[in-house]
Amino acid sequence: MKVLKFGGTSVANAQNIKLVLEIVKQKAQQDQLVVVVSALSKVTDLLQSAAAKAAANDESFRDVVAEIEKKHLDTLKELIPVSEQSSLLSHVKRIINHLETLLDGCFLLGELSPRTADTILSFGELLSSFIIAKAYQQINSDAVYKDSRELIKTDNNFGKATVNFEVSNQLIKEYFAENKSKINILPGFIAQTLDGITSTLGRGGSDYTAAIIAGALDAEQLEIWTDVNGMFTANPKIVKQAQPIANISYQEAMELSHFGAKVLYPPTIQPVLRKNIPILIKNTFEPEAVGTLISNQISSNDTVVKGISHIDHISLLTLEGPGMIGVAGSSRRLFEVLSQEKINVIFITQASSEHSICIGILNSDAENAENAINKAFEIEISQNKIDPCYVEKDLCIIALVGENMKNHQGLSGRMFSTLGKNNVNIRAIAQGASERNIST
Ligand code: ADP
Ligand code: ASP
Ligand code: MG
Repeated sequence: MKVLKFGGTSVANAQNIKLVLEIVKQKAQQDQLVVVVSALSKVTDLLQSAAAKAAANDESFRDVVAEIEKKHLDTLKELIPVSEQSSLLSHVKRIINHLETLLDGCFLLGELSPRTADTILSFGELLSSFIIAKAYQQINSDAVYKDSRELIKTDNNFGKATVNFEVSNQLIKEYFAENKSKINILPGFIAQTLDGITSTLGRGGSDYTAAIIAGALDAEQLEIWTDVNGMFTANPKIVKQAQPIANISYQEAMELSHFGAKVLYPPTIQPVLRKNIPILIKNTFEPEAVGTLISNQISSNDTVVKGISHIDHISLLTLEGPGMIGVAGSSRRLFEVLSQEKINVIFITQASSEHSICIGILNSDAENAENAINKAFEIEISQNKIDPCYVEKDLCIIALVGENMKNHQGLSGRMFSTLGKNNVNIRAIAQGASERNIST
């Protein structure tokens, strides 16, 4: 059993979907397959914009719905013979009507809750998976469609729900134990709370859907089919000299993806790492290219620095003051506040004097974090023991990643002097004890 995931660009239009169908057809000759698909390229963004417009009482959300409808109807018409189209076109139109009704609700109420937003975003994968399953059934009528929401259960942290692995693994195993179909097509990204409300796994989450299924089924391999030849040494859209990495360890891939290599959604590695299932990243538009194999095999003669990744739009928050020295629990309080506010901390440094702690978070979380921290340390701030939280916006984190970096001297020196020579000012530095990652 192999689990294959095809991303947004791979299923952007009928022409690309035909490439996907061909890859699936070839692979199905050897293996039983689970095929997880993303929404057609940009559709999740369009849904998000339609929802935001509707909630802001902007009638132009209807134009966005019309664009989404046209995209899907055009794709379907190009993939399905005319004689079979009519009932499928009606089905797509019914789904779009349902979407429009929900958006009308947002428009009338002038409101968009995270729960409603997830239901609205789920339409991208619901539409794409329906169309792709129907298109594949033209080739092989035994291909089966399954709604991932019936298999993947989460909490109600809408927008980026946490998977309940105990329940989900059980449901996935049970379903596939009974269903021996050679090809199973499922939507990525979408899931459901235990009480049956649609949730999503976070933007980019289709990779995770595929990994959850691969982990539950002890799949032989997880394949992530995308629009580049694997995981590169740096983002190939930005760095011309970037090269695809043939082999990389789970930990290195995790560090690179956590620090911005969007080709793999960071949580994806967890469910397969536990089972030692390799991940192969492949290019739908160049299937003959070898791609990247992520596994637990690392060779000692590998290149020292595996890759460089970066995250834009970062804010650095500094909390400092004499009141932090030797006082047990200040960092605990700081991180507790951030966790209560559901703010993800990307980067942490603390100088050994304990005089200050710096944390890197997304710009979009900065204001919220600043207010929450100042409130939590209100007393110390009023007594001048701690300064009000200091925020610097619009920074960027750059991470150098490699398993073998720990055995080499002078790498951080070279990194910092290179940045210095290029007039890049370093505001903070972090290096984990694993020495697998140096971030600035
Ligand atoms: P998909 O829609 O297939 O999930 P994504 O857009 O999520 O594709 O991820 C693929 C993109 O990730 C590439 O087109 C590339 O722009 C970006 N990317 C960023 N860093 C890297 C990297 N180190 N290696 C490969 N791709 C990267
Ligand atoms: N369609 C979702 C997104 O754009 C999930 C995915 O493509 O992985 O975020
Ligand atoms: Mg992706």
